[in-house]
Amino acid sequence: MPELPDITVYLDALERHIGGHRLVEIRLASPFLLRSVDPPLSAVNGTMVSGVSRRGKRIVIELEDNRFLVIHLMIAGRLRWRDAGTSIPGKVGLAAFDFDHGTLVLTEAGSRKRASLHLVQGAEALGQFDRGGLDVFETDLATFTSRLQLENRTLKRALTDPRILDGIGNAYSDEILHRARFSPVKRTQSLSPEELERLWHAARDSLKEWIERLRQEVGDGFPDKVTAFRPGMAVHGRYGEPCPVCQAPVQRIRYASRETNYCARCQTGGKLLADRALSRLLKGDWPKRLEDLE
Ligand SMILES: [Zn+2]
Repeated sequence: MPELPDITVYLDALERHIGGHRLVEIRLASPFLLRSVDPPLSAVNGTMVSGVSRRGKRIVIELEDNRFLVIHLMIAGRLRWRDAGTSIPGKVGLAAFDFDHGTLVLTEAGSRKRASLHLVQGAEALGQFDRGGLDVFETDLATFTSRLQLENRTLKRALTDPRILDGIGNAYSDEILHRARFSPVKRTQSLSPEELERLWHAARDSLKEWIERLRQEVGDGFPDKVTAFRPGMAVHGRYGEPCPVCQAPVQRIRYASRETNYCARCQTGGKLLADRALSRLLKGDWPKRLEDLE
């Protein structure tokens, strides 16, 4: 699932490509994509893009007349910038947003179509997409601490819970925990004030570094290599490979068809955690529905 760094570079690119431009029309290839009925999509034909923003992991295209297109890419949804009038690719194509100077194409690989599009009118309607999570760049340590310790969660779940923090998913939570040198199953209420500060810095530094890195990679173009598995990540998606800090092989915990990666030497005091017991621990702290990870 595209997370804060990926969403940030998408927003940068959208601002550059469609900011101030007029949307000609929206072509829908999949009727299941659109999850709203009023106003109808045709209502925004010919309106100007006044800005772009995000609500959690959702991308918001702001239009004149206080209307908002809200795109959730879920796991496999991606945006592409193509020549004006490009036909929507079969199988993976969901929709095309046509502008005079180019077309924004929304695709989703795989057979399970989960990506969604809403068109809403007014700030209040837009508010329904706000899950309440804190933006780590806009919060101070005290607020971060109290939000994190409100409930006694595993660190893995606390970081990825959209009601606690904003825009962090499976990939960057692994990276943040490795940087902070905490076990994914350590509980939030067991952290000392110093440890909380370490986690807070690790979250901000890790996300900031990745945003800068992805910005450099994308340059003036459009992000076309959005993935949860990036070369240069310390542990995420690197099971069995050497930890870049200590060279010990990266470990994994599998739970609910997911995997979290960690370095035993850096994060658990060298202890190899039993996969099954850990999996149970994480699973118990993990939502049943994918939607709760949004
Ligand atoms: Zn290590």
